[in-house]
Amino acid sequence: MASAPNPALSPAPEEWPEELMNLGREAEAAGREQEEAALADFAQDSALNWLFVDLNSYFASCEQEARPELRGRPVGVVPMMADTTCCIAASYEAKAFGVRTGTIVADAKRMCPEIVLVEARHELYIDFHHRIVEAVESCVPVTAVCSIDEMACRLIGRERPLLAAIDLGMRVKQTIREHVGPMLRSSVGLATNRYLAKIASDMEKPDGLVALPLDILPEALGQLTLRDLPGIGARTEKRLNEKGLHTMNDLLALDCEQAGEIWGSVWGQRLWHWLRGEDFEMAELEHQKSISHSHVLAPEMRTPDAAWAVAHKLIHKAAMRLRSKGLWASNIGLAIGFAAPRSENTPVSRFGVPARGWRSEIKLHECQDNQTLIAALRRLWDSQPKGAQYQHPYFIGVQLNNLIPDRLHTLALFDGLEEEQSRTRLLATMDQINDKYGMSTLAPAAMLTAWKAAPTRIAFHSIPDLF
Ligand SMILES: [Mg+2]
Repeated sequence: MASAPNPALSPAPEEWPEELMNLGREAEAAGREQEEAALADFAQDSALNWLFVDLNSYFASCEQEARPELRGRPVGVVPMMADTTCCIAASYEAKAFGVRTGTIVADAKRMCPEIVLVEARHELYIDFHHRIVEAVESCVPVTAVCSIDEMACRLIGRERPLLAAIDLGMRVKQTIREHVGPMLRSSVGLATNRYLAKIASDMEKPDGLVALPLDILPEALGQLTLRDLPGIGARTEKRLNEKGLHTMNDLLALDCEQAGEIWGSVWGQRLWHWLRGEDFEMAELEHQKSISHSHVLAPEMRTPDAAWAVAHKLIHKAAMRLRSKGLWASNIGLAIGFAAPRSENTPVSRFGVPARGWRSEIKLHECQDNQTLIAALRRLWDSQPKGAQYQHPYFIGVQLNNLIPDRLHTLALFDGLEEEQSRTRLLATMDQINDKYGMSTLAPAAMLTAWKAAPTRIAFHSIPDLF
């Protein structure tokens, strides 16, 4: 973060009536109509739509709140007591020594010999989380819980003018301290869209309150570095540098089309609009809602066993795609088309096969792992109609529905579900390896059985639409 004085509005509301008055005076000279127009413009430019709350050094602050003997001391929160692990949070006292999230414990001890290492207690942080959300809710409705220590609130009506929004921001901070605990300090950002409000919350830490109304936006953003923007990590920064973009002003000088080209996706264009303060909903609300894969079976494959192997294969493929997009499924559907004997008077499908169709779906706890999905698929499979007309499946479709992005799943994931966490890690590793070396390199034992069962003509090794 740039350390130069920031033009963003830190809480100094007493300056603002003065500005309003100056604006009023100028306008008065120009006539009443213009005065009204000028004031309306000012109100428009200074109105804010989002308040973003980010707790400071969250895990370490929870520990300092719960254990007063840790207050004022450098604290490092670690997943386990081992020199080889890394800090997952550091108190501000530890940050003063250069200890951060990700610092290896052995290094942290060297940098700050006084550091007190504390084993992470996720239940405690979740408990505080609920109390913080409640405290914020008592001031303004929480629109979205973005992570365990971040919340976004949409402002409406009388909350939107600059002074009112700053006032609300101060009240939010104070309410958290009073109702949850004095160690729980937060940084509040106010802006016209959620993306900028998050940036604003990052501009002053700890215990900040920063507003970015439209009229100061270009100047305020110009002070940031590319890496200060959410979504720009080391890799993207490198890519931007290679394209000749080194500063925020370089980025801000692009037109919308250029921004789109540089990212090679709609993301660049969205970013362009967000950086200009436009308020429209973020990508997470536009995430993909379902993933489906289907396969028409060759005539010799139209047996229940071969069809199951294909269904199994399709769910594996859908699950890989689900994880690669950072999504979680909460519903699974199975569709089967059955070829009927020619003599029967049944509709002819577009595949030229006389057919009857069947489809069913079941709800799931949010998941993205093969094991859960395969078990659910099996339940669906076993519920398909029985009888002579249902012996020749020729079409299989699987669908994952009601998808939820990682961001919204985080809390459940965090909720002490260690088993799920390790399963998630394992699958991520498998996906990486499969992505690199071909799909059958690593697979759960159940999958291997299905692969063996399936006739060789199914191209298990080439999944052209996967990535
Ligand atoms: Mg935070």
